[in-house]
Amino acid sequence: MAGELPLSGEPLPLELVNTTYVRGGVRGRRMDALAAGPRAVGGWLAARRDRFPDALAKRLHGVESVPPVRYQEFLELRGALRSLAAARTSGAAPGADPLAVVNTLARSAARWPELAPGPDFRSVVRTAADDVGREALGEIAAAAVDLFSGPAAERLRACPAPGCILYFVRTHARREWCTVGCGNRVRVARHSRRARDGGAAREA
Ligand SMILES: [Zn+2]
Repeated sequence: MAGELPLSGEPLPLELVNTTYVRGGVRGRRMDALAAGPRAVGGWLAARRDRFPDALAKRLHGVESVPPVRYQEFLELRGALRSLAAARTSGAAPGADPLAVVNTLARSAARWPELAPGPDFRSVVRTAADDVGREALGEIAAAAVDLFSGPAAERLRACPAPGCILYFVRTHARREWCTVGCGNRVRVARHSRRARDGGAAREA
């Protein structure tokens, strides 16, 4: 499943947003890599486990699925992140509902030390999350807080290719499109437009 996604290597919150994408350009079809349900989220998490903190990464190894309630939360977080990414890239204020979704889930990223019961004054790390799915949601939500409020937000882009709905962080000044595929598609469209107009059309 992960191999079919058009874009990878973006910050985790954008990777989650980009699980919905359009295949086939302007008249293409909207795809959803998580549509298959809780197992799709399990596979998505397992494939990205190395992007999570070590302790969680170990527990995500081989994870196959998440409980249905977590699946719904992943979809809810994805929707909220898409809305915030749209606001952040267009200069609009964030919506109250997506903010609430992200902020509520970000609490699940909380961890703190406690003294373990017993005679030997051992410390243990407790987490606010009660399962790996919730912990992963918390990490993604917390990463989104950093992304949208931090320096990378200035380089956050909605891909400008017609029909594309992906978001990316512009890693270098010349990166204009989410993928080489989008850049090529736009160049081909410009070329055929110019050919059609007898070469008279100016570059848009
Ligand atoms: Zn694109």
